[in-house]
Amino acid sequence: MPDQSPPGRFDPLDPAWQPRVPIEGYPNTWRRNPRGALFRRPLTRSELTGPTDLSPRLRPGDNDLARLKPGRVALGQLIRVEGRVLDEGGRPVRGAIVELWQANAAGRYFHPIDQRDAPLDPDFVGNGRTLTDGDGRYAFFTIKPGAYPVPDSGRWWRPPHIHMSVLGPSSLSRLVTQMYFPGDPLNAHDRLLNSIGDARAREGLVSRQLHPADIPGEWLGFVHDLVLRGRHATPELD
Ligand code: FE
Repeated sequence: MPDQSPPGRFDPLDPAWQPRVPIEGYPNTWRRNPRGALFRRPLTRSELTGPTDLSPRLRPGDNDLARLKPGRVALGQLIRVEGRVLDEGGRPVRGAIVELWQANAAGRYFHPIDQRDAPLDPDFVGNGRTLTDGDGRYAFFTIKPGAYPVPDSGRWWRPPHIHMSVLGPSSLSRLVTQMYFPGDPLNAHDRLLNSIGDARAREGLVSRQLHPADIPGEWLGFVHDLVLRGRHATPELD
């Protein structure tokens, strides 16, 4: 099918706002990035418009990682992560699925690959999803993840971070990225965060902490907006 998108429909990404690949000292960089030059291909109508109405895929409580079972709460600092999904023009992206996954408070993932000698939490799995509302807003209840050392990397510790993915309203709005926490000393040494050349782009990956008085309940609040596409798109990090 021929390319039916008008020319210039999307702003191109700014390379300075994206990670330099391969990322030096990051063992997974070779598996997770293309080795050849990218090329442009025609876009199909379904790529430009679908998927639509992702809401049937969600269940109540999918956005609450901290309270998996009635009467039980995950170990760690309880936090609420909220924000908006925006397009390159600053308009809200409605009905997009935001997914997140993260380590527990001890910095261990609930995943067979992670066999590090750190405790698992029986009340925490570490993944969730939600749908953006009419203003493009999303919110999760979870715990602040711990830092963890990257195997075979020469004592590189990842700072606390949350992996995030956005899907919809079209397949072109897919974004896989990571959210950092403000003020963590490990941020300055993180090889992924610092693979991004532009300081403002790096800042775009660091959430903003709300004043405790500005959030109800016993949660610490963090705000993190995600920008899909365009020159100031949230950098991709996987
Ligand atoms: Fe991670």
